[in-house]
Amino acid sequence: MVSITRILAMAAVLSLAACSKQPSPPVTDGVTDALLASAPEGEWLNYGNDLGEQHYSNLELIDDSNVGELGLAWFADFETARGQEAVPLMHNGVLFLTTAWSMVKAYDARTGALKWSYDPEVPRETLGRACCDAVNRGVALYGDKVYVGTLDGRLVALEQETGNLVFEKFIVPNQRDYTITGAPRIANGLVLLGSGGAEYRARGYLGAYDSQTGEEVWKFHTVPGNPADGFENDAMEAAAKTWAGEWWKFGGGGTVWDAITYDPATGLIYFGTGNAEPWVPSVVGREGDSLYTSSIVAVDAETGEYAWHFQETPEDRWDYDSASPIMTVDLTIDGEKRHVILHAPKNGYFYVLDAKTGKFISGTSYAEQNWTTGIDPVTGRAEINPEARYDVTGKTFSVNPGVMGAHSFQPMSFSPKTGLVYIPINLAAVPLRTEEDWKPTDVGYQNAQDPLWWSTPTAGPMGSDEPAAAMAALIAWDPLAKKEVWRVERSKLGNGGTLATAGNLVLHGTTDGRFEAFDAGKGKPLWSYNTHSSIIAAPMTYAIGGEQYVAVLTGWGGGWGGAAIGGTATRNTSRVLVFKLGAKAELPAPPSLAERVLDPPPFTGTDTQVTRGATIYGRYCYACHGAAAVAGSLNPDLRYSATLSDSNAIKSIIIEGALKHNGMVSFEKALADEDSEAIRHYLIKRPNDDKAAGK
Ligand code: CA
Repeated sequence: MVSITRILAMAAVLSLAACSKQPSPPVTDGVTDALLASAPEGEWLNYGNDLGEQHYSNLELIDDSNVGELGLAWFADFETARGQEAVPLMHNGVLFLTTAWSMVKAYDARTGALKWSYDPEVPRETLGRACCDAVNRGVALYGDKVYVGTLDGRLVALEQETGNLVFEKFIVPNQRDYTITGAPRIANGLVLLGSGGAEYRARGYLGAYDSQTGEEVWKFHTVPGNPADGFENDAMEAAAKTWAGEWWKFGGGGTVWDAITYDPATGLIYFGTGNAEPWVPSVVGREGDSLYTSSIVAVDAETGEYAWHFQETPEDRWDYDSASPIMTVDLTIDGEKRHVILHAPKNGYFYVLDAKTGKFISGTSYAEQNWTTGIDPVTGRAEINPEARYDVTGKTFSVNPGVMGAHSFQPMSFSPKTGLVYIPINLAAVPLRTEEDWKPTDVGYQNAQDPLWWSTPTAGPMGSDEPAAAMAALIAWDPLAKKEVWRVERSKLGNGGTLATAGNLVLHGTTDGRFEAFDAGKGKPLWSYNTHSSIIAAPMTYAIGGEQYVAVLTGWGGGWGGAAIGGTATRNTSRVLVFKLGAKAELPAPPSLAERVLDPPPFTGTDTQVTRGATIYGRYCYACHGAAAVAGSLNPDLRYSATLSDSNAIKSIIIEGALKHNGMVSFEKALADEDSEAIRHYLIKRPNDDKAAGK
């Protein structure tokens, strides 16, 4: 009956929009919409488990009384050692996950035996247009297929049973600015995906694709294009009034790179949009709110038509993506049952919105912030601290939260039993200031941030001199009382997402390699396991044959993978770990983080070359190789490079792209030979300075 209603509704819609192609009907076998809305006991079918993305499981075989007996059941190593951010899915006894480079793997969820593996063979030079490593956050299951978005911009469908390719289609607008790292979501026969790229020149959008063919069914842009081309819809025309200058030349940003939540209760899709681009408004004459960047937007799930928006960060100039996962829950607020959205974006505020209308209910800072003087209690609009407009004041502003965000893609979880939301937060301010005489280029970030900050040893917690003090925490947040209930300090930034279970547990993995369980109500530590690696992903859980399992991916990388956080490299062994009660499997001994000795060639350059080199390094190099040339374990620490004494070797890498097969692209379009030489002298000066300082 439901499916007939659905088909009739779709027919009505299509008669209104005759130009649209009729999409394939929803599937009736395998993983159906009904199954996605209500998974069989023990299965985990959506990115956030339930469609509301609560990352909550009602399994309670593992609970606060026995979690101490949790042991390693099995593990499997990946052939790529980059950032691992995926949340696995489990269906019919098979665990499906993605690794860096958008590879897909299917394992026997009980034994860990590899069922199949699929490599989309993403060209490694794609890394040059990926802001944040070659990560991927997971697959979607629908019918008899598995869907993945690849870093180079393809939507790929595979057979669940065999991993054989069914179709693949490029769905990004170009091969210069767009990448895909997010997990696809499903809404009634449509596969939903956006893209990354708001550090480049992307124009954000959410696309809906036919699950059987990959054909685009509809697309909603998040920022207006060139008015001379005409606006796609009224929402774009309205948004254009909140921009100035020739924003479309730089794309505008607002990319939908992670949060997409389909809500059958309202028939809407909610998605989070990224920062406005370039970060610094004044360099391109941008003024105003820049809608719909740094916002939650809701569209009709069938047609993609605009329903409502709520902008969390107007006038974005702080890289405050609103891309953090969007959760829906039912709460009783002031005696009234409300279906609401809970959101904790990078800007440090926790929002509660009415899911149907987008109406603001509450907004409270869940982490330290200084970019506002508060928010309007009725509308929720941020009241911006004038000093935070660093491009207007012309002064450096140390913004909190920093560009890493108080909380980003790492899934938060919600327990209906405790009524609490479990959020991994970062506490790290970052100074922002405008680059003088900034000019856009064809490669690298287009952020117009003063690059010199990123190439000096005082670059804060992402650089070399900051001690590894408490910089992060796992917090339990009460969305009704609007306050923190408990907190566990974390020693490094960028920790993984969370999982809440009916066994009164919260599970959380950390950058420094611990996988831990806490009492969901009180935050008491109950179990801790040394993974010998680093966790930036969120765990999930499933049950087979009367046993409950917990799975999590390890592997350091992602947006801050280039950095030596807290001044130290972080170990990356990329694998999936699966735990159950009483299991006794053991991990092999970890590889040592080799002690290296700085041994640079003597410095023979000039101060002018070093300043020039530092400027270029801060613009093009630091994101992968670390602030102040101090790298994490993801990419080479260039202070130790054996090529520093050889001008031609450096030139062949930077200008000619000799290492592009490793993802180190050519910067020929942006840099000349003398720039390569300037970088070389900067990279020789840095280790000489460090050595002189006794490091
Ligand atoms: Ca961003």
